[in-house]
Amino acid sequence: MEKKILFIIGTRPELIKLFPLINQLRVNGYSNYKVVSTGQHKDLLESYWRVFNIQPDYQLDIIKADQNLTQLTARAIIAIDSLIGKIKDSFSPDVIISQGDTTTVMASSMVSFYHNIPFAHIEAGLRSFNLQHPFPEEFNRKVASISTKYHFAPTEISKDNLLMENVPMENIHVVGNTVIDTLNYFISSNTIDNYVFSNKQLKTNLTLETNNLVLITCHRRENHKDLNQLIEAINELSQKNPDLVFIWPVHPNPNVKVAVKSSSLLKKNNIIITEPLEYLDLLKVLKHAKIAISDSGGIQEEAPSFKVPVLILRETTERPEAVNIGVSMLIGMDKEKIITNFNTFRPKFPNDFTNPYGNGKAAESIVNIIC
Ligand code: UDP
Repeated sequence: MEKKILFIIGTRPELIKLFPLINQLRVNGYSNYKVVSTGQHKDLLESYWRVFNIQPDYQLDIIKADQNLTQLTARAIIAIDSLIGKIKDSFSPDVIISQGDTTTVMASSMVSFYHNIPFAHIEAGLRSFNLQHPFPEEFNRKVASISTKYHFAPTEISKDNLLMENVPMENIHVVGNTVIDTLNYFISSNTIDNYVFSNKQLKTNLTLETNNLVLITCHRRENHKDLNQLIEAINELSQKNPDLVFIWPVHPNPNVKVAVKSSSLLKKNNIIITEPLEYLDLLKVLKHAKIAISDSGGIQEEAPSFKVPVLILRETTERPEAVNIGVSMLIGMDKEKIITNFNTFRPKFPNDFTNPYGNGKAAESIVNIIC
């Protein structure tokens, strides 16, 4: 009998990285699945549901104004638990699938445990070995691992991290990161090359040449206090590099938004400060980037597919693979380090370079194992 699969999705990267699984089920003609949106990134996700042609079957509402992390966690657990109770007669899941390290994921894993429903964790085993960096994600993913039945580790390094925590070998499957499946889906259909920017600022103000862009993103909580270092560095770099266009899609977190939007960067000719980019806009920018300056997990994984180096605005990373092969670099949030490394970091990507995070076949493997 077909298993009933419940996907629980909270944020932008979770939808981007779970899309290939849902797509694979569709390709296989498998319809016994439902999708829950917890609403953790409700506004940010709107355009993504459309791009990926997925409609959530159940919409939760876990975000409230001025809610702290404890309250968010409590609200997420109660909302997911209530949903499982409500749908148990019509759709009692045989497996719950979540991706990554957010509060949504931790709460999903806990509710799965209490209901005795096997939990599948996509992107399992990432560890920075520092509970404060990234905060609270390192904690979330460690908690999720405790009750996970299917650990889908992207790489051998993440597998080893799980083994060190005594996760049984037979429960770990190294499949690659599903983000590469998503990327390949768009790259192989030439969608990115033919794509016309939906973002008005990019559509009207941008002339694309080979590698004439610099992509900047920054949203990690632990970086909020140092945003001025990054702003000052970008200010200086944009003046010294008038042939480059610096594109900064600003995360909706109020701390980030206020700092960037009240800065002098808005007035510079070769800087585009914009709303978060829709996924295909982001991929097109990345494809034409000379370098990315970012604290994003997803961008660390996607950039190597375009042979774009990343200056990582962090002290540690749970995605060390690109740093280990020398195509990305950890630089933190110090103005001088950002400027110096921007000027000097020029890794060589060999012709036969392949992305260390996956080969684009993760979803197929995962679906074969679960279904
Ligand atoms: N992303 C996007 N638009 C943006 C910034 C990022 O579509 O303006 C995508 C990016 O390509 C990656 C994902 O969002 O796939 C990463 O999300 P984010 O940086 O918010 O989270 P993280 O990966 O750090 O958890």
